[in-house]
Amino acid sequence: MQIIAIYPGTFDPITNGHLDIIARASKLYTKVIVAIAVNRGKTPLFSLDERVELVKSVTPDFTNVEVIGFDNLLVDCAKQQGATVILRGLRAVSDFEYEFQLAGMNRRLAPQLETMFLTPAEQYEFISSTMIREIAQLKGDVSCFVPNEVNQRLIKKFN
Ligand code: ADP
Repeated sequence: MQIIAIYPGTFDPITNGHLDIIARASKLYTKVIVAIAVNRGKTPLFSLDERVELVKSVTPDFTNVEVIGFDNLLVDCAKQQGATVILRGLRAVSDFEYEFQLAGMNRRLAPQLETMFLTPAEQYEFISSTMIREIAQLKGDVSCFVPNEVNQRLIKKFN
């Protein structure tokens, strides 16, 4: 059975936690589409093009992973891409409430799509892009939380 999963998020920037989820998903699904949201609500640190390019640069080993940017409703983007699974990562109980609400809303909008959750290895559970940005901005070392390319870009951005 061919199953295409879409993994949406802001990825501002991609972390080792996101990568762990992508690696697990690439073994489970025929194709995994990492869908990077423009995110008009927040002002991202990295532009959409930069975020897409960064995710592409750290996922070349996954032959069934594709990276796209999107600016429309997630369920519409999923349909356009032929995805039947929305993939989300769960770090801690604190993620649950929001994710539960989001999954419920997406089910009302598109009942044919299933939301599936994966948890990362425990050393990645506490990593969030928000914290990475804050630490990097204050010149802290984030090299063990993000891929090397991302670390270099963060250092450049804040220097
Ligand atoms: P954030 O919530 O950090 O701003 P995103 O919007 O980019 O990140 O997240 C996309 C998806 O990846 C969400 O489902 C989020 O819960 C998940 N995710 C983020 N960080 C991690 C992590 N360290 N481990 C597992 N999943 C994660």
